[in-house]
Amino acid sequence: MALEEYKRKRDFKKTPEPEGKVAAQRSERFFCVQKHLASHLHYDFRLEHNGVLLSWAVPKGPSLDPKTKRLAMHVEDHPVEYGEFEGVIPEGYGAGIVMLWDRGTWIPETDDVDAALKKGDLKFTLNGYKLKGSWVLVRTGGRYAGARGGGDRSWLLIKHRDDWSGDLDITEFAPRSVKSDGEFEDILAQDNPAIWHTNRPAKGGDTGAMFATIIERAAKLKSERNPGTKATRDADAKDERAARTKDTKGTKDTKTKEPQRARSTQSKKKK
Ligand code: MN
Repeated sequence: MALEEYKRKRDFKKTPEPEGKVAAQRSERFFCVQKHLASHLHYDFRLEHNGVLLSWAVPKGPSLDPKTKRLAMHVEDHPVEYGEFEGVIPEGYGAGIVMLWDRGTWIPETDDVDAALKKGDLKFTLNGYKLKGSWVLVRTGGRYAGARGGGDRSWLLIKHRDDWSGDLDITEFAPRSVKSDGEFEDILAQDNPAIWHTNRPAKGGDTGAMFATIIERAAKLKSERNPGTKATRDADAKDERAARTKDTKGTKDTKTKEPQRARSTQSKKKK
Protein backbone atom coordinates (compact mmCIF):
# COMPACT_ATOMS: atom_id res chain seq x y z
CA MET A 1 0.00 0.00 0.00
CA ALA A 2 1.42 3.35 -0.93
CA LEU A 3 0.45 6.91 -0.14
CA GLU A 4 -1.35 8.02 -3.33
CA GLU A 5 -4.66 8.78 -1.64
CA TYR A 6 -2.92 10.59 1.22
CA LYS A 7 -1.05 12.81 -1.25
CA ARG A 8 -4.02 13.34 -3.57
CA LYS A 9 -6.11 14.78 -0.72
CA ARG A 10 -3.52 17.35 0.36
CA ASP A 11 -1.77 20.41 -1.01
CA PHE A 12 1.62 20.35 0.71
CA LYS A 13 2.17 24.01 -0.11
CA LYS A 14 -0.77 24.80 2.15
CA THR A 15 -0.65 22.25 4.94
CA PRO A 16 2.04 21.75 7.59
CA GLU A 17 1.41 17.99 7.45
CA PRO A 18 4.41 15.96 6.22
CA GLU A 19 4.46 14.84 2.60
CA GLY A 20 6.24 11.70 3.67
CA LYS A 21 7.34 8.58 1.88
CA VAL A 22 7.01 4.86 2.42
CA ALA A 23 9.49 4.01 5.17
CA ALA A 24 11.67 0.96 5.67
CA GLN A 25 10.24 -1.65 8.03
CA ARG A 26 11.52 -1.11 11.54
CA SER A 27 11.90 -3.79 14.18
CA GLU A 28 9.64 -1.86 16.56
CA ARG A 29 6.29 -1.07 15.05
CA PHE A 30 5.05 2.41 15.86
CA PHE A 31 1.47 3.23 16.74
CA CYS A 32 -0.24 6.48 17.60
CA VAL A 33 -3.60 8.07 18.19
CA GLN A 34 -4.13 11.62 16.99
CA LYS A 35 -7.05 13.54 18.44
CA HIS A 36 -8.32 15.58 15.52
CA LEU A 37 -10.79 18.41 15.80
CA ALA A 38 -11.95 19.01 12.23
CA SER A 39 -15.50 18.95 10.85
CA HIS A 40 -16.08 16.63 13.83
CA LEU A 41 -13.94 15.58 16.75
CA HIS A 42 -12.46 12.11 16.22
CA TYR A 43 -9.43 10.03 17.12
CA ASP A 44 -7.17 8.79 14.32
CA PHE A 45 -5.82 5.38 15.26
CA ARG A 46 -2.65 4.44 13.32
CA LEU A 47 -0.58 1.27 13.19
CA GLU A 48 2.75 1.09 11.37
CA HIS A 49 2.82 -1.72 8.81
CA ASN A 50 4.87 -2.15 5.63
CA GLY A 51 6.36 1.33 5.86
CA VAL A 52 3.11 3.26 6.25
CA LEU A 53 0.58 3.96 9.00
CA LEU A 54 -2.63 1.97 8.58
CA SER A 55 -5.31 4.38 9.73
CA TRP A 56 -8.79 4.31 11.21
CA ALA A 57 -10.86 7.31 12.27
CA VAL A 58 -12.60 6.52 15.56
CA PRO A 59 -15.35 9.11 16.20
CA LYS A 60 -15.70 8.45 19.93
CA GLY A 61 -12.11 7.44 20.58
CA PRO A 62 -10.86 4.18 22.07
CA SER A 63 -12.61 2.63 25.09
CA LEU A 64 -10.89 0.54 27.74
CA ASP A 65 -14.18 -1.25 28.41
CA PRO A 66 -14.38 -4.55 26.45
CA LYS A 67 -18.17 -4.17 26.25
CA THR A 68 -17.86 -0.82 24.46
CA LYS A 69 -17.13 -1.40 20.78
CA ARG A 70 -16.03 1.73 19.00
CA LEU A 71 -16.75 2.37 15.33
CA ALA A 72 -13.48 2.79 13.43
CA MET A 73 -13.65 3.96 9.81
CA HIS A 74 -10.73 2.68 7.77
CA VAL A 75 -9.13 5.65 6.00
CA GLU A 76 -6.13 6.13 3.73
CA ASP A 77 -2.64 5.07 4.81
CA HIS A 78 -0.49 7.86 6.22
CA PRO A 79 3.30 8.25 6.09
CA VAL A 80 5.15 6.98 9.16
CA GLU A 81 6.46 10.46 9.91
CA TYR A 82 2.86 11.67 10.22
CA GLY A 83 2.86 9.82 13.54
CA GLU A 84 4.80 12.64 15.18
CA PHE A 85 2.64 15.38 13.71
CA GLU A 86 0.83 17.76 16.01
CA GLY A 87 -0.36 21.17 14.90
CA VAL A 88 -2.85 23.21 12.96
CA ILE A 89 -4.11 22.36 9.48
CA PRO A 90 -5.24 25.84 8.38
CA GLU A 91 -7.37 24.85 5.38
CA GLY A 92 -8.29 22.07 3.01
CA TYR A 93 -8.61 18.39 3.84
CA GLY A 94 -8.79 17.78 7.60
CA ALA A 95 -8.63 21.50 8.42
CA GLY A 96 -8.53 21.84 12.18
CA ILE A 97 -6.25 20.95 15.06
CA VAL A 98 -4.29 17.71 15.46
CA MET A 99 -3.10 16.59 18.90
CA LEU A 100 -0.76 13.63 19.38
CA TRP A 101 -2.94 11.95 22.00
CA ASP A 102 -1.02 8.69 22.43
CA ARG A 103 1.99 6.96 20.93
CA GLY A 104 4.08 3.89 21.48
CA THR A 105 4.69 0.52 19.88
CA TRP A 106 2.44 -2.34 18.85
CA ILE A 107 2.88 -6.07 18.35
CA PRO A 108 0.57 -8.07 16.09
CA GLU A 109 -0.92 -11.14 17.78
CA THR A 110 -0.59 -12.96 14.46
CA ASP A 111 2.26 -13.91 12.13
CA ASP A 112 0.51 -12.57 9.05
CA VAL A 113 -0.83 -9.02 9.41
CA ASP A 114 -1.87 -8.81 5.75
CA ALA A 115 -3.95 -11.98 6.03
CA ALA A 116 -5.54 -10.68 9.24
CA LEU A 117 -6.41 -7.37 7.55
CA LYS A 118 -7.86 -9.19 4.57
CA LYS A 119 -9.92 -11.37 6.87
CA GLY A 120 -11.02 -8.28 8.80
CA ASP A 121 -9.83 -9.47 12.22
CA LEU A 122 -6.56 -8.04 13.50
CA LYS A 123 -5.54 -8.77 17.08
CA PHE A 124 -2.65 -6.84 18.57
CA THR A 125 -0.97 -5.60 21.72
CA LEU A 126 -0.40 -1.90 22.34
CA ASN A 127 2.30 -0.36 24.48
CA GLY A 128 1.50 3.34 24.58
CA TYR A 129 1.29 5.90 27.36
CA LYS A 130 -2.48 5.63 27.59
CA LEU A 131 -3.44 2.51 25.66
CA LYS A 132 -1.92 -0.82 26.60
CA GLY A 133 -2.65 -4.51 26.44
CA SER A 134 -4.61 -6.58 23.95
CA TRP A 135 -7.03 -5.13 21.41
CA VAL A 136 -8.80 -6.17 18.22
CA LEU A 137 -9.97 -4.42 15.08
CA VAL A 138 -12.85 -6.27 13.43
CA ARG A 139 -14.43 -5.37 10.10
CA THR A 140 -18.19 -5.12 10.50
CA GLY A 141 -19.18 -6.25 7.03
CA GLY A 142 -21.53 -3.51 6.02
CA ARG A 143 -23.38 -2.98 9.28
CA TYR A 144 -22.67 0.72 8.90
CA ALA A 145 -23.00 0.64 5.13
CA GLY A 146 -24.61 4.07 5.11
CA ALA A 147 -21.59 5.62 6.74
CA ARG A 148 -18.97 7.60 4.87
CA GLY A 149 -16.92 5.45 2.53
CA GLY A 150 -19.26 2.45 2.56
CA GLY A 151 -19.61 -0.66 4.65
CA ASP A 152 -16.27 -2.29 3.94
CA ARG A 153 -14.53 0.65 5.59
CA SER A 154 -16.36 0.10 8.87
CA TRP A 155 -14.48 -1.68 11.61
CA LEU A 156 -14.87 -1.91 15.36
CA LEU A 157 -12.04 -1.19 17.79
CA ILE A 158 -12.47 -3.36 20.89
CA LYS A 159 -10.39 -3.77 24.04
CA HIS A 160 -9.78 -7.33 25.19
CA ARG A 161 -10.23 -8.07 28.88
CA ASP A 162 -6.86 -7.93 30.63
CA ASP A 163 -4.93 -5.92 33.23
CA TRP A 164 -5.31 -2.80 31.08
CA SER A 165 -9.08 -2.96 30.53
CA GLY A 166 -11.61 -1.29 32.80
CA ASP A 167 -14.37 1.28 32.98
CA LEU A 168 -12.11 4.34 33.21
CA ASP A 169 -13.07 6.79 30.46
CA ILE A 170 -9.59 7.26 29.04
CA THR A 171 -10.48 10.13 26.68
CA GLU A 172 -11.93 12.07 29.64
CA PHE A 173 -9.26 10.99 32.11
CA ALA A 174 -6.27 11.74 29.87
CA PRO A 175 -7.35 14.38 27.34
CA ARG A 176 -3.98 16.05 26.72
CA SER A 177 -1.14 15.66 24.25
CA VAL A 178 1.64 13.14 24.94
CA LYS A 179 3.94 15.33 22.84
CA SER A 180 3.39 18.82 24.26
CA ASP A 181 1.14 18.08 27.25
CA GLY A 182 -1.14 20.72 25.76
CA GLU A 183 -4.84 20.93 25.11
CA PHE A 184 -6.19 21.98 21.68
CA GLU A 185 -6.02 25.66 22.68
CA ASP A 186 -2.33 25.33 23.60
CA ILE A 187 -1.58 23.77 20.22
CA LEU A 188 -3.53 26.48 18.43
CA ALA A 189 -1.80 29.20 20.47
CA GLN A 190 1.57 27.87 19.28
CA ASP A 191 0.36 28.58 15.78
CA ASN A 192 -2.00 31.31 14.69
CA PRO A 193 -5.30 31.48 16.57
CA ALA A 194 -6.45 34.37 14.39
CA ILE A 195 -6.50 32.13 11.35
CA TRP A 196 -10.14 31.07 11.67
CA HIS A 197 -11.69 34.32 12.82
CA THR A 198 -13.51 34.69 9.55
CA ASN A 199 -13.76 31.14 8.24
CA ARG A 200 -13.65 28.29 10.74
CA PRO A 201 -13.36 24.58 9.86
CA ALA A 202 -16.73 24.00 11.56
CA LYS A 203 -19.29 26.65 12.40
CA GLY A 204 -22.49 25.12 13.70
CA GLY A 205 -23.34 22.58 16.35
CA ASP A 206 -21.14 21.13 19.05
CA THR A 207 -18.01 21.21 16.89
CA GLY A 208 -18.53 24.85 15.99
CA ALA A 209 -18.97 25.71 19.66
CA MET A 210 -15.83 23.73 20.52
CA PHE A 211 -13.84 25.65 17.91
CA ALA A 212 -15.18 28.98 19.17
CA THR A 213 -14.09 28.21 22.75
CA ILE A 214 -10.68 26.90 21.71
CA ILE A 215 -9.98 29.86 19.42
CA GLU A 216 -10.87 32.27 22.20
CA ARG A 217 -8.69 30.47 24.75
CA ALA A 218 -5.80 30.23 22.29
CA ALA A 219 -5.99 33.95 21.54
CA LYS A 220 -5.85 34.62 25.27
CA LEU A 221 -2.88 32.29 25.77
CA LYS A 222 -1.08 33.96 22.91
CA SER A 223 -1.83 37.47 24.13
CA GLU A 224 -0.49 36.56 27.57
CA ARG A 225 2.83 35.92 25.91
CA ASN A 226 2.65 39.22 24.00
CA PRO A 227 1.12 41.64 26.51
CA GLY A 228 -0.07 45.12 25.62
CA THR A 229 -1.84 44.31 22.38
CA LYS A 230 -5.50 44.86 21.67
CA ALA A 231 -6.00 41.10 21.74
CA THR A 232 -4.75 41.05 25.34
CA ARG A 233 -7.24 43.66 26.41
CA ASP A 234 -10.08 41.84 24.64
CA ALA A 235 -9.06 38.55 26.18
CA ASP A 236 -8.79 40.12 29.63
CA ALA A 237 -12.27 41.53 29.29
CA LYS A 238 -13.58 38.11 28.27
CA ASP A 239 -11.72 36.53 31.15
CA GLU A 240 -13.33 38.91 33.62
CA ARG A 241 -16.73 38.11 32.21
CA ALA A 242 -15.99 34.37 32.47
CA ALA A 243 -14.78 34.79 36.07
CA ARG A 244 -17.98 36.59 37.00
CA THR A 245 -20.10 33.84 35.45
CA LYS A 246 -18.09 31.19 37.26
CA ASP A 247 -18.61 32.90 40.62
CA THR A 248 -22.33 32.52 40.38
CA LYS A 249 -22.14 28.82 39.55
CA GLY A 250 -20.22 27.84 42.68
CA THR A 251 -16.90 26.04 42.74
CA LYS A 252 -15.34 23.22 44.74
CA ASP A 253 -14.56 25.72 47.50
CA THR A 254 -18.07 27.06 47.65
CA LYS A 255 -20.08 24.65 49.72
CA THR A 256 -23.74 24.79 48.86
CA LYS A 257 -26.43 23.41 51.09
CA GLU A 258 -27.41 20.48 48.86
CA PRO A 259 -24.16 18.48 48.92
CA GLN A 260 -23.78 19.06 52.66
CA ARG A 261 -27.18 17.61 53.33
CA ALA A 262 -26.36 14.69 51.06
CA ARG A 263 -23.13 14.04 52.91
CA SER A 264 -24.70 14.16 56.37
CA THR A 265 -27.46 11.78 55.29
CA GLN A 266 -24.86 9.41 53.98
CA SER A 267 -22.78 9.49 57.17
CA LYS A 268 -25.88 8.85 59.27
CA LYS A 269 -26.66 5.81 57.13
CA LYS A 270 -23.15 4.49 57.67
CA LYS A 271 -23.49 4.82 61.44
MN1 MN B 1 -8.54 12.83 11.08
